[in-house]
Amino acid sequence: MIYLDYAATTPCLPEVIDAMLPYFRTSFGNAASVDHAFGSAAKSAVDRAREQVAALCGANPEDVIFTSGATEANNLALNNNLRLITGTIEHPSIRDTAQSSSSARRVEWLATDSQGIYSIDQLNDCFNSSEPTMLSLMMVNNEIGTIQPMAELSSTARNHGAILHTDATQAVAYLALTMEHVDALSLSAHKIYGPKGVGALICKSRLRRHLSPTLYGGGHERGLRSGTLNVPGIVGFGCAADIAISERTKRTNHLTAVRSTFEDTLATIYRRKVRVNAKDSAAPHIMSITLDGVNGRALVNAVRSKVSFSLGSACATTKSEPSYVLLAIGLSERHANETIRCSFGHELDKVNAMEAAAEIANSANALLEFFAA
Ligand code: PMP
Repeated sequence: MIYLDYAATTPCLPEVIDAMLPYFRTSFGNAASVDHAFGSAAKSAVDRAREQVAALCGANPEDVIFTSGATEANNLALNNNLRLITGTIEHPSIRDTAQSSSSARRVEWLATDSQGIYSIDQLNDCFNSSEPTMLSLMMVNNEIGTIQPMAELSSTARNHGAILHTDATQAVAYLALTMEHVDALSLSAHKIYGPKGVGALICKSRLRRHLSPTLYGGGHERGLRSGTLNVPGIVGFGCAADIAISERTKRTNHLTAVRSTFEDTLATIYRRKVRVNAKDSAAPHIMSITLDGVNGRALVNAVRSKVSFSLGSACATTKSEPSYVLLAIGLSERHANETIRCSFGHELDKVNAMEAAAEIANSANALLEFFAA
């Protein structure tokens, strides 16, 4: 079985599991119980992880707010009364939060081009009032892999005095991040070979002072995220962050080669047209592929026992309508339904990539024949 769904989640690295285990077994203290040795040991471990996670993007450790993942980090980032500009291809944890916002705040939606890049001209046009504004625009899209030009978006935001938050969940394992261009970013441990159920909002005071908590209680994490800290998860996140920093360049180069082998094999074997969406702007680990003539869901099912990949976002697996991201970049409904997402991790090599691509292409050819008969 070959796993090609690394954008949905990654396995925990053995080093990460080893780092976490003592915090389940012996050092199980509550990080807030600093009056005694067990609590102090847990707090020290969290402090170290805070530094490791901050180092992912050169942030100040004090700006790290640990959460249960990027969904919560995104919800927290939007929990303010600023006017919001966001985009049409954001993750549901931004899109649905912006849409469901009960406040009377205005939300404006940026469109993208066919590569999934947001329009700077449209962004400039959005600044037609002096209302305090925040932008939330993702760094790497989870379905098509588009890398946004953050430096440009950021300088436009700065020119207009706006605050910029970015969902960097899919970016952090492969792109060198810096807080230079942004005021806040969301991260998730399980996308970088860490555990599930832990993430962070890294947030400078420029946005932090506008935020209200989404959970009330003990006032942990500077009053912005109450709840006993998930010490083992946070320690695992820190360890995964450390490894991600040292492995980033190697992983990126490796995946660039793996994806190109995968694409070449697929295009050689599949009898009809293969189109890679957002090809010129995609991060190395995500490939959105439209296979002309074949229903994506039928293909995922046909290859199920050999290769695991998805139609798009893991959050949309149960939805039957075509992906809003694919429609936003201009695909027709038919092409959106003929699209699959394969995403890669460093464990794969060129041989696996060829094998998986051949399985997918041969099954797609068989489906074409079946439906033609
Ligand atoms: N944002 C993006 C871009 C993602 O890919 C995901 C995970 N699918 C999330 C947010 C949510 O992350 P989590 O699973 O940690 O809540």
